Amino acid sequence: MLKKRKLSIEKIRNYSDITRLPIITKEMLRASFPDGVVSPHLKRRGKVFQTAGSSGQPFRFFYDKSASAISIATRFLLDSWLGVPPGHKQMAVRIFHTWADRLILNEVNLSPFDISSATVPSIISTLNREQPHVLGGHPSALGLIANEIRQDTCELSFKLKAGFTTAETLLPGLRSRLESAFHAPFFDRYGASEINSYVGQECEHKSGLHIVPQMVLVEVVNGSDHVAPGEKGKLLVTNLTNYVSPLIRYEIGDEAVLGEECPCGRTFPMLKQIVGRTVDYVKTKSGALRPLPDFHIPLTAWDSVLQYEFVQVHQGELTVLIVPGKNFDSRLEAKILKYLAGCAADVDYRIELVSEIPPTRAGKRPALRID
Ligand SMILES: [Zn+2]
Repeated sequence: MLKKRKLSIEKIRNYSDITRLPIITKEMLRASFPDGVVSPHLKRRGKVFQTAGSSGQPFRFFYDKSASAISIATRFLLDSWLGVPPGHKQMAVRIFHTWADRLILNEVNLSPFDISSATVPSIISTLNREQPHVLGGHPSALGLIANEIRQDTCELSFKLKAGFTTAETLLPGLRSRLESAFHAPFFDRYGASEINSYVGQECEHKSGLHIVPQMVLVEVVNGSDHVAPGEKGKLLVTNLTNYVSPLIRYEIGDEAVLGEECPCGRTFPMLKQIVGRTVDYVKTKSGALRPLPDFHIPLTAWDSVLQYEFVQVHQGELTVLIVPGKNFDSRLEAKILKYLAGCAADVDYRIELVSEIPPTRAGKRPALRID
């Protein structure tokens, strides 16, 4: 690839030089696995890591074991922004859980596959027994636990210091539901399993994500140009800690808005917002693509909507799967449909009541499913 561009690695010396390198996509990495994605100068190959992949296609890469120490140090840094010192007990909903998470970070794992409305009471008993200081993970799974607490069917007997969400888009309104159920602040944390790295996290100002520059170099581009602060573009990530299988200018599949300074004074670069997966677009009748954040359930309905998911099968049609709470009725259904029509008039909406929205093979409950 470098030969094709008449480039030699010696010419890549600073941040601006990196733009001369090509953008790498997930499809290119899949096609080149295993020999094309490993550094030819290293004898060690590390461990093969496999993710289920949000599109349902598995994705494999080589994980550099020597990156573990910096990853743990970064986790301590991010936890300090939550106001939590090392050693405090944590519980997290996530798929991958290592001995280091358990022994060094004192983190107990909850699998997203084990969380459903039927199992939430026993999960709350586990939380009461474990007495965590921090609770984190997939916001949809944490939302299910919060619903049960808010319906006064069970009580918490521990005091949470803080929470974090990761792996899925934090939908509007869900943060305040989590904070009111657990009586603690929740922060959005962003990472990517396919690069096995933290990318950034909110600080106490919650005005965007501070990038962790010791782990990743982040770019936001429109085509091949870097966007200006406040503008949206595709997110590219260069992992600085994986020497076995270096991912340089990797197109992670999310869109983001570049940020500026944060009032907290931390000088780490900012992403104002992760807009969502690049596939998170609803196709209207005219064929226009509307980003998912344009559509959401009105906040006043949240106490009666336990979970929801948008499903698009045909262009111009959007089905909203809703797990109803105890006060859900036809009047509220009509109100939600009217609200959605205000979000985009060029779409036919339908509400379907369901008893459960199960996670995908990747353990996530995406806000939009395109069948
Ligand atoms: Zn800040």
